[in-house]
Amino acid sequence: MKCSDFIRDVGPYLDSELDPKTALEMARHAETCAACAARLEGERRLEASLARRLAAGAPTPELWDAAIRRVDRGRPTRRAWRWIAAAAVLAVVAGAAFVVWPRHHEMDLADVAYEHHAAYLLGTSPPEVTESRAGAVQEFLDREMPFALRLPEALDVGITGARRCRLGDTPVAYLVGRCGEEDVSLMVFPADGLRAFPDAAARFAAEGPIIHCHVAGLRFVGAASNHWIACGVTRGDAAKLQTTVAALVSR
Ligand SMILES: [Zn+2]
Repeated sequence: MKCSDFIRDVGPYLDSELDPKTALEMARHAETCAACAARLEGERRLEASLARRLAAGAPTPELWDAAIRRVDRGRPTRRAWRWIAAAAVLAVVAGAAFVVWPRHHEMDLADVAYEHHAAYLLGTSPPEVTESRAGAVQEFLDREMPFALRLPEALDVGITGARRCRLGDTPVAYLVGRCGEEDVSLMVFPADGLRAFPDAAARFAAEGPIIHCHVAGLRFVGAASNHWIACGVTRGDAAKLQTTVAALVSR
């Protein structure tokens, strides 16, 4: 067994989800590879610590963040999602308003935006560029995106990074940022990409150029113009998210 195989399977291994042969290979590898043994121990400690915090009482936004940021940083496995679900269930039981575990199929575009946001928070989809100096994200967009997207000078969400992504055939500029204390994910793509999102298209048709919904306890806002779709999710200020996505499509 190679270390890369071990890393890939360590979550299912801890969950006893592997077939006996693979589980045995995992155990043997951990006996002979100090790095993977340390990795396994780290995973075990992380789980124990999270379990203690979940059991300790009233959930807080910080606990929610701990669940989605720290568990399985490298891989959004079933196990990671179970922990997030556990945090969410506890929050709901405790009457906390800040999180509601996603109802299935909220709105197609909102679901996708949420999935990308969760992957960003989990660390599985880090930005390709960070705004380490003024203009770095704009330069990245100019260089890497197949369309010309000018970021407005002043946005209510502070852009901190970007990466490329795709929704089906549509190239998407994925931006991350901060709004006060909260993380924000933004997606901007040419308007014809909306074809892949019939729910969102119907909402825009019925409600006009700005649409809102909740997804997994976060706020989703979408904005449409003739040429662009922009949308975002955050736990933070929905009004600032709205002015931001509106500004992004106004170019
Ligand atoms: Zn190893």
